[in-house]
Amino acid sequence: MILTNARILTFDSADRVLDSGSVEVLDDGAIGSVRGGRATDAHAVDLQGRLLMPALINCHTHLYSTLARGIHLPGPPPPDFPAILKKLWWRLDRALTEEDVYYSALTGLIDSARCGVGTVIDHHSSPNACAGSLDSVERAFHEVGLRGATCYETSDRNGRRGADAGIRENVRFLERVRPAAQVGGMFGLHAAFTLGDRTLAACVEANQSLGAGFHIHVAEDVCDRSAVRRLCAAGVLNEKALAAHCIHITASERTALARHRVNVVHNPQSNCNNAVGIADLPALFHSGTTVGLGSDGYSPRMWDEFKAATQLQKVRARDSRVGGAEACAALFRGNRDIVRQIWGTEVGRIAPGARADLLLVDYFPPTPIDSFNLFGHLLFGVSNAPVDSLMVNGRWVLRGGHCVNLDERAIAEKAAARAKALWERF
Ligand SMILES: [Zn+2]
Repeated sequence: MILTNARILTFDSADRVLDSGSVEVLDDGAIGSVRGGRATDAHAVDLQGRLLMPALINCHTHLYSTLARGIHLPGPPPPDFPAILKKLWWRLDRALTEEDVYYSALTGLIDSARCGVGTVIDHHSSPNACAGSLDSVERAFHEVGLRGATCYETSDRNGRRGADAGIRENVRFLERVRPAAQVGGMFGLHAAFTLGDRTLAACVEANQSLGAGFHIHVAEDVCDRSAVRRLCAAGVLNEKALAAHCIHITASERTALARHRVNVVHNPQSNCNNAVGIADLPALFHSGTTVGLGSDGYSPRMWDEFKAATQLQKVRARDSRVGGAEACAALFRGNRDIVRQIWGTEVGRIAPGARADLLLVDYFPPTPIDSFNLFGHLLFGVSNAPVDSLMVNGRWVLRGGHCVNLDERAIAEKAAARAKALWERF
């Protein structure tokens, strides 16, 4: 398939911008060639001058949280982060059934697709519907057509049996998924402060032959201080690990993260919402750590995370020069490096050999656009432009703003019925 008549943001090694170009998509879902000018092929798909760029990536989210949108918490609002977990999230995940897990993932992934996100890295929890839950999440990925990974959030907060069930679910899923599959796996852990030494050691041992990366919350709140040291010593943090947040860390812990080549994921909107603090992005980048961007379930819109990351760092540093470069590097370089590092998949650039994960937006700028002023266009223009189409692995997921293979309205109605019953049990 040839896609033509598009302005192309390649995000290749030179961040080239082609004012009018064409992309060849091969039958195996890879990009064949990228050329300037319009294709003469009579069967080429005319993109009508819209802007074509790599599909966005969300490196940390919780699809199981989708059906919590608008849920009412009785009594006074929780005063701190541990109270938010106990009053909201640890009650919600215990109330989830297998069917809820599926509809929560399905609607969360549809929302992601409609926001131009082609790859979603999920962190799942449903203690009373644990066995097989990752298959339900995986099924939702396949039905929407997105790329990504999931894992089960192992924790001691539901007792020893709960922790063992979490380990079994991770192992079962990881033994089944193929290494290069469009939907892969990780070994999920909740956070150091809900994992005892016995469980942590059992997870590391269970993962020994699997060699998967661990996906875990690290130092999100002051209650999880010193997590880095403990997790490094336990053998959890390495070049395949995803460490979400990393807010409350010392300079020496930052150095340890860089030395172990850990992938850190910044989640600015969730951090604001939970009032847990602001990660020091310039210091993390300066230490040489790979830093990506996620939503932590707050929103499917990675553009909003990009904007929040930009603005928060400026406020944190009280310096308007800070933030833009870091937010851009996290969303466009960090996220694609993380996907390559953990699963060996090339996404996040429009270049020969990369997977054809492409986002098409209605963006017709009133000003010139090139590789030097790209950031200004991303922040003030492209991020506000309507999503027209999304392609993942060479297949259209979205055309004209809607999913091509699903009845979105019918799914929303079924999900709303599941949510109503879930809220009654909550
Ligand atoms: Zn999270």
